[in-house]
Amino acid sequence: MSLIRAEKLTKTYRAGDVEVPAVRGVDFVIEPASFAAFVGPSGSGKSTLLNMVGCLDTPSGGRLTVLDTDVASLDRRTGAEFRGRHIGFIFQDFNLIPVLTAYENIEYPLIMVQEWPAARRREQVMRMLAAVGMANQANKRPDQLSGGQKQRVAVARALVANSRLVLADEPTANLDHDTAYRIIALMKTMRDELKTTFVFSTHDPKIMREAEVTFTLEDGRLAQNSAGKHG
Ligand code: ADP
Ligand code: MG
Repeated sequence: MSLIRAEKLTKTYRAGDVEVPAVRGVDFVIEPASFAAFVGPSGSGKSTLLNMVGCLDTPSGGRLTVLDTDVASLDRRTGAEFRGRHIGFIFQDFNLIPVLTAYENIEYPLIMVQEWPAARRREQVMRMLAAVGMANQANKRPDQLSGGQKQRVAVARALVANSRLVLADEPTANLDHDTAYRIIALMKTMRDELKTTFVFSTHDPKIMREAEVTFTLEDGRLAQNSAGKHG
């Protein structure tokens, strides 16, 4: 069974009297343990698509199935519950909580969403800190970390609750090239180890080549659907 399946998926925003078609009928399938990317220029619909997959936004039409669930049928509360249970997010601007340490940022989903007991929580957070190479930075706050280090913490936070799916919206856009490649490599390692599916978006053609499956968006439509250099 596919992890994500979209059929004739559309999203139209309304701004007053004006309709903005952000996604115009796309079909795609993403299999479990994929390392997939949506690629396209600014405004092509990448964020809209990822937000619908992550239940942060609802489709206007078509079908969208994520982990065997028809996510269009979820309301705000059940959508949030589904997201908290199965989906991790990584954002362009990291979105770490500034007053919390690296350790506390990673621990946050385990407290807020999943209510893990303290001992198991500590063990899991330490494991994730080590996995992303940040064990010796555990007590630093985001303003004491570099961009690449902040994104490592964000990767750990996205994975800490054993998410089946991680969505990353332009996760390397605020990083220099070397750091960007290291973050993509880290995500791929985590995919290999945990069999988590990673779906990221980028408008950077170099980063795009690191994906195993790419979907190219142009003005809300899929322009081409190709296997990357590993495929
Ligand atoms: P990308 O992430 O590829 O830059 P987006 O998905 O953010 O593209 O945007 C796709 C289109 O939808 C753009 O034309 C954008 O202006 C429009 N759009 C996105 N979000 C909204 C919104 N909340 N309200 C109105 N229009 C929006
Ligand atoms: Mg975007």
